[in-house]
Parts: sequence; structure tokens; C-alpha cells
Amino acid sequence: MKPLSALAGAIARRARRPARRASGFLKGAAIVLVLCVLEALLHAYTLRVPRPPQDLDAPFSRQCQDPRIAAAKPRESAALVMLARNSEIEEARQTIQNIEAQFNRWFHYPVVFLNNEEWDLDFVRELNASVSGQAIFDVIPKEDWSYPSWIDPAKARQSMSLQQKAGVWNGGKESYHHMCRFYSGTFYTHPALAPFKWYWRLEPGVRYTCAITYDPFVEMARHAKTYGFTVALWEEPNTCPSLFRAVDDFRTQHDIPLTPTWNAMLDTSSWSQQVWPVRKLLGLLGRPHHARSGARWNLCHYWSNFEIADLDFFRGDAYQALFRHLDRRGGFYHERWGDAPVHSLAVHLLLPPGRLHHFADFGYHHEPFFQCPGNAPGGQLPGNDALGDAAWSPETDGAIGCRCQCPDQRRRNNRGVCLAAMQAPAAFHRTSWWDRYRGRYPYTINLPA
Ligand code: GDP
Ligand code: MN
Repeated sequence: MKPLSALAGAIARRARRPARRASGFLKGAAIVLVLCVLEALLHAYTLRVPRPPQDLDAPFSRQCQDPRIAAAKPRESAALVMLARNSEIEEARQTIQNIEAQFNRWFHYPVVFLNNEEWDLDFVRELNASVSGQAIFDVIPKEDWSYPSWIDPAKARQSMSLQQKAGVWNGGKESYHHMCRFYSGTFYTHPALAPFKWYWRLEPGVRYTCAITYDPFVEMARHAKTYGFTVALWEEPNTCPSLFRAVDDFRTQHDIPLTPTWNAMLDTSSWSQQVWPVRKLLGLLGRPHHARSGARWNLCHYWSNFEIADLDFFRGDAYQALFRHLDRRGGFYHERWGDAPVHSLAVHLLLPPGRLHHFADFGYHHEPFFQCPGNAPGGQLPGNDALGDAAWSPETDGAIGCRCQCPDQRRRNNRGVCLAAMQAPAAFHRTSWWDRYRGRYPYTINLPA
């Protein structure tokens, strides 16, 4: 009897074992799940972008001013700067004529023209005649427009032809790579800019579509701003797969803490960012646009063909160290890192939210995108001698521009997703979940949609 009952017992035990094993597995899975959920909550908390006590950035102007008022006050040490080729003489002239008509005819700021080659006399003569302030023509030193010593030009050219084949925007153009590297770093230390504290970047062929009747440099200084922008967009993903990792490596090497401005550059929404093991794995595998930690960049950046910014910030130790770190990585050649994402990631890494300024009151058009604030009702100063009698498009409620010629009723022809994300650290007024879902983004913070 004994062996029989032992056998029955053994059978019963064995029958129970898979059940016990299954329940053990379930328990383990439940614990892992709970830990992952807790980690996801902690992660979301660490990367949150808290609401400031009030909007930290407002338009400098909401209607026309008599430009003679600001022009009679002291100026800042500032210059308009345009990098151009000799062949762009016509487009350069258009830009200067436009900015003179909309702004500089009252303020007479100097314009610095930079070129990687000697200027043609025609260009100098034409543009000299177009600027109402001083026109300064200078050349970029050869070493700032060529490969650094640690880049093998043959290998770089090989990378570029691969980029061209892969359809990377301007990836096959050697000069474009030099240009992006120049604008990312040595632009700021060019001797022609040494006398100035502020720059306003111009490009051949851009258009300002409203009158600018105050001094933006003075307002930048008065509001303690460092970096001013107009349009914010997504970067082309294939131009810079490893840029975000390189910047985040700099952040961790220098113990720069996570701040709301930095967190605003992260894409935290997808499930792969919530689940710790998946996020970790993506980071370890070095997936494009992921930091080593697994954090992912949302690809948002300010469009740097317009910038009004503080040269001292970009000439300063922190930014220049970041530039050297990036330059060492070789991504200006082996990928096609643009100066726009470099500047944007840098200002979001190194500056607190209130230092960034959206020039929402500027009408700005660089093909194919524009913003145009529309005309403030009752704020157009009809009959003002200084402004003259040029026509402006219809005045609309909530608009803040001065004598704008907006292409149509829209205030921008690009989605406001990146602008909302990048302005979030400075925004007391937040886009609701429902409005985001419906694609209704305000034109800028502190103003109605
Ligand atoms: P995009 O706006 O990214 O399409 O690039 P652009 O062709 O407008 O170039 C950006 C700026 O760099 C403009 O001011 C150009 O005039 C300037 N630029 C680009 N490539 C060169 C170049 O090879 N030589 C010079 N001197 N300027 C360049
Ligand atoms: Mn351009």
C-alpha cells in the first residue's frame, strides 16, 4: 500500500507543479510590470515640463509704433549679418532692399557680409549702395571653411556621396557641409563680429513681410533674452542620426542637469519611451536620435536662417566647448548636421526658458515656409509720415503685426507642433489635449489661436 500511496502523492505533486510554475511566472511578470509602470511614472516626472507661474515670453510689440521714437533712443552694439556667394548678388540685394524698407531705413544698423571667397567688386558696389548703415565685407579664413585635421577628406567625401545616394538634403554638397559647420561654430568668433554683442542673421532671398518699427536688439537686451527665432519645424531625420546622442553625451560629461528647456526637446510620447527595457535597449543600440539613456529627441528645431541672438552666449565657453565636442565627432561631414538643430539643442541645453524669444510679431518668409502675424486692428498708424503710405492686408482680430502683407489669411504654413513643444517651458497657457488632437495650436504663447 505504501509504495502505491507514495506514487499517488508523487503524481499529485507533479500535477500541481506546472500550476505552481505558472503562478510563479505570473507573479514575476506582475512584479516586473508594476516596476515598469512605477519607472514610467518616475520617468515622466523627471522629464516633465512644469508650467511657469506666468507666460515668460510675450511679443515685443502688438501694433505699429512710430519708428522715430525707438530710432531716437540709444542703439545696441549690433549688426545684421549675411553669408552669401558672389553669385547670389540679386537675391542678396532683394533681402537688403526689403530689410531696409521694413526696418533699417530708420535704424541704420551696419550689415556684415561674409563669404568663403573674395568678394566680387560688383557685389561690393551694389550692396554698398543698398545699405543705409555701414556695409562691411569680409572673408572667412580658409581653416574655418575646410576639413579639421582629424577628418580625412577622402573618407568625408565618401560619406557625402553615400548621403547623396540616400537622398539626404544637401548631403552631397561639400560646401553645404562647410557652411553648416561654419555657422555652428567659427561664425561666432569671426573677427568682423568681434565689435558687436548682437547679430541678426539674414539670407539672400528672404522676405520680411511686416514693418518692424522698434529696435529688436534693444528689446532683446531689455527683456534679458539670448536667442530669438521665428519658425520652428521638424528636422529632416536622415541629416543627423547621431547628433542628439552627441549633445546628450556632452550634457552627461559636464553634469548638466535635466531642465524644463532640455526636456522640451524630448519625445516622451511613444510607448517605447515609457517601457524601461525597450527605451534602454534603443539607447544601447545607438538608434538614430536616441541618447545613450534611451531618451529620444523630438527632432524639433528653430529655423536658423532667421536669428537674432547674443553673440556673447555663442562665443562663450559653454557653447564653444559644445561646438568643439560636436566637431570632434565628425558629424558635420559624416552626417549632415545643420547649424539649426545644433543651435536649437544648444540653447535648450544651456539656457533657462525665459531667455528664448519668439518674434511672433515679425512677418518672415524663407521658401517654402512663412509666419505672418496679420495686422492689429486700429494699430496701423495710418497717415504716419515715417511709415509712408504702402498698403497692408486687412486688419484681423487678435492680430499683432504692423502693416503686414500676409500671403493669405493663414498665420503660418507649417504646423505649430514644434513651436508649442519648444515654447512649453515658457508657457503658462498650454494647448489642451483636445486642441492638440484637433491640430489647433495657438500662433504663439500668450496670444489666442
Ligand atoms: P538652405 O536655406 O538650408 O536651403 O541653404 P542656403 O543655400 O540658403 O544657404 C544658407 C546660407 O549659407 C545662405 O546665406 C547662403 O548664401 C550661404 N551659403 C551656402 N553655401 C555657401 C557657399 O558655398 N559659399 C558662401 N559664401 N555662402 C554659402
Ligand atoms: Mn536659405
